[in-house]
Amino acid sequence: MTDKFQAPRGFHDILNSDIKKFRRITHVCRELLESHGFEEIILPVVEFAQLFEKSIGEATDIVQKEMFVFTDRKGRKLALRPEGTAGTVRAYIQNRLYAFKPYHKLFYEGPMFRYERPQAGRYRQFHQIGAEIFGVSDPLADLELILLIGEILNRLEIEAVIEINSLGCKKCRPAYRASLVNYLHTVAGNLCDVCLERKDRNPLRVLDCKEKTCKEAIVSAPKSVDFLCQECSEHYRKLKAYLQETNLAYRENHLLVRGLDYYTRTVFEAVSDKLDTTLIAGGRYDYLVEEFGGPPTPALGFAVGVERLMLLIDSPLKDYSFYLIIPFGEVHSYALKVAEQFKGTGRRVEISYRKGGLKKQLEFANKVKADYVVIVGEREMKEGKVTLKDMKSGQQETLSFEEIQSFLRC
Ligand code: ATP
Ligand code: MG
Repeated sequence: MTDKFQAPRGFHDILNSDIKKFRRITHVCRELLESHGFEEIILPVVEFAQLFEKSIGEATDIVQKEMFVFTDRKGRKLALRPEGTAGTVRAYIQNRLYAFKPYHKLFYEGPMFRYERPQAGRYRQFHQIGAEIFGVSDPLADLELILLIGEILNRLEIEAVIEINSLGCKKCRPAYRASLVNYLHTVAGNLCDVCLERKDRNPLRVLDCKEKTCKEAIVSAPKSVDFLCQECSEHYRKLKAYLQETNLAYRENHLLVRGLDYYTRTVFEAVSDKLDTTLIAGGRYDYLVEEFGGPPTPALGFAVGVERLMLLIDSPLKDYSFYLIIPFGEVHSYALKVAEQFKGTGRRVEISYRKGGLKKQLEFANKVKADYVVIVGEREMKEGKVTLKDMKSGQQETLSFEEIQSFLRC
């Protein structure tokens, strides 16, 4: 086969048992978010590139290196969305949601695109489920999102640590930034080339570098929490006090920053020590709505990386037991009637399209992992019965419709 018919690098098919993992993750997240009053928003996959340049930040890896950008027929610069927050903020303002309610809780789900080097859990097209709260400055909203992250992990039985930090605001961040730049100059000899270049332009990102030498160089870097203004300090203190009242395990990581410029105050991540990667990440972005022309609106959110979680779950959604109906002869409409008996009983039921004798059919039933086969031949049709065979035990019996019903009830 030529390359032409392979998916492009970093773009992957999700199939077989992975689909079940994928669905289980999205099912758990959607159910939790909906039960917490988050309303779904379906966003376009394409936006003007500028939306991401201005929100995520021009000096970030995502914008500089990872965006899929193209021009349309009129020469406009568009981008495949690399994340969902910028689009949600755009939609919030464009649809004037702020005019209808004092605060909003929204969630989205779908593919994101980043031109990254593919590896396990890192793709060029991947999926996120994200939650955003607009219009709440109270740290209770930070608490709600962090608890939701804990609950998602809990329900999926994934072991991860939730880390939190505070990055301060417009008032207090500049002093921290200046102190960090000073520090980075003192360890410049140990920084990787990329960090050397970004230490003055985007110094916080150096803290997020995955290079070993950089990780070592920053261990004694100044901490943003030591520079917080009174309001930010109070916000962070309250959040931690609320967290103490719950039984959620979390740890403070004073070097936690995020790869996007728009964050203020609280940032948080769920990190898998086993995989040494981030699974879920988020934080506050109190200025973003205003910067995009909306009214001043404190906001915050998180995004779940679906493929990352898929690496850590092995039990897919519980399977229904599977009944394969095998018709023999001219029994088509009778087979449909038999299939009706299973509808609404929480069982999976299918009529086999496989042609051939009993042996072939049973081999096929094994291959597709049927739990039972339901043999429907002309004799069964005449008697108004079916032959039910348990594929595990090999036992079989002939049952009337009434007997099937009582069998299915136990
Ligand atoms: P990382 O540090 O792993 O590159 P990030 O800081 O770029 O992650 P965010 O932009 O915060 O990640 O995205 C939130 C989540 O989306 C991540 O925690 C991760 O689970 C997932 N994610 C990000 N990039 C990818 C990717 N290329 N492939 C698969 N999942 C991804
Ligand atoms: Mg990244």
